[in-house]
Amino acid sequence: MDYSKEILGELKKKGIKISDYVIIEKNEQKISGMLMPKSQGSPNSLIVKLENGYNTGIDFDKNTKIKKSKGNDEKKPKPVKTEKYKPDPSKPTITILSTGGTIASRIDYSTGGVTGLETAEEIISAIPELKDIANLKLRQVFQMMSEDMEPYHWMTLAKKIDDEISTGVDGIIITHGTDTMHCTSAALSLMVQNSPVPILIVGSQRSSDRGSSDAAMNLLCAAQFIAKSDFGGVAVCMHGSTEDKFCFIHQGTQVRKMHTSRRDAFKSIDVLPYAKVEPDGTVEFLRSDYTKKDKKRKPHIVDRFDRNIALIKSHTCFNYKVLEFYEQQGMRGIVLEGTGLGHLPIRDMDDYTKHHKLLYDTLARLVKKGILIGMASQCPYGKVNLNVYTNLRLLKDIGILELRMTPDTALIKMGWALGHTKNSEDAKKILLTNVAGEILDHVDIQAYE
Ligand code: ASP
Repeated sequence: MDYSKEILGELKKKGIKISDYVIIEKNEQKISGMLMPKSQGSPNSLIVKLENGYNTGIDFDKNTKIKKSKGNDEKKPKPVKTEKYKPDPSKPTITILSTGGTIASRIDYSTGGVTGLETAEEIISAIPELKDIANLKLRQVFQMMSEDMEPYHWMTLAKKIDDEISTGVDGIIITHGTDTMHCTSAALSLMVQNSPVPILIVGSQRSSDRGSSDAAMNLLCAAQFIAKSDFGGVAVCMHGSTEDKFCFIHQGTQVRKMHTSRRDAFKSIDVLPYAKVEPDGTVEFLRSDYTKKDKKRKPHIVDRFDRNIALIKSHTCFNYKVLEFYEQQGMRGIVLEGTGLGHLPIRDMDDYTKHHKLLYDTLARLVKKGILIGMASQCPYGKVNLNVYTNLRLLKDIGILELRMTPDTALIKMGWALGHTKNSEDAKKILLTNVAGEILDHVDIQAYE
């Protein structure tokens, strides 16, 4: 996409190019920043990157004055220069499977286009320290934001991982958008069993053209962890604090995005992270219950999924009709996010709660019909326990399953279990069998501190 003819004419007249610093004045308003390429929105509005890293748009009309300014060239990100590099046989080889997201997007200031880092050379040029750690291979699998990912994408990734492992690589880094990174890590933990090498999912909260980007440090920590530790298996590697000091390696099935914008948004839930890793390669393990790498081991790929599943949150106006809707849609599995230890409003207490009993009866009917219904908690920390209160036992009595997992992991396990078989009793057994440490018998309270 490009700017309108009017804007292009004005820029040409003033000798202004994309990525030049400009001052724009319009009706008493004055803004300055870097002129950005047009990638979306109306062609007749100018896009400027402000000092704080955010972009803003100004509609262009006859009252809009634009002129070139000196700006702060120091702060201007340098274009990515690529240089050839030769693999070093004494170093481990890491494949980067790129899927898109913020970590893969940057503005190429030489051309003005939005690009990803597409080759190993480009990555090495942007983060030259990587070549001291490992030889890199880059495979672009998708170019998408993670909110658009579907089970299909997890299954495709599982196959790509299998292909890469068969080439003998020492580890795999998956670059990924952060919004659903913890879902992909849970899905891959189930789909890629017995991995002989580490598979680390890495994202960034801020894109690499911003001064505060976390992309480089997250990638460096992941590469160091692969090179320096004996870990094998699926994990997430992201900033451990708001400073650029260390990353945490989180268990793939017990991690969650807990903040919309902070760089330390990812937290291990109810377990400690496996390890702390610094960009200089210092690794400190916080747990010892991890699978060690063993390149002789063969991975077992279980890329199955039935997407006829739903995640439903209970709330103060919750109504049984929501369940009937999902029944009509042909859902085979439902994960309920109950309050606290796994409660739902199932008791008639007064005139206002008369429909509560109907919720209980509907649940009982759906379970009898063969729909798998499980309970997880909407409390971010702590797991459900359907034995504690009478109300909870009432749910257990009608066959509601206790899912001691995070709600996202519970949903993915449900779809994965149902993907194995049309028989819901068999799927139930798979759902309740621990495969990748997703079912937590013991909650580590230190994880909450
Ligand atoms: N919404 C984006 C995504 O998850 C955010 C990011 O890339 O971090 O893909």
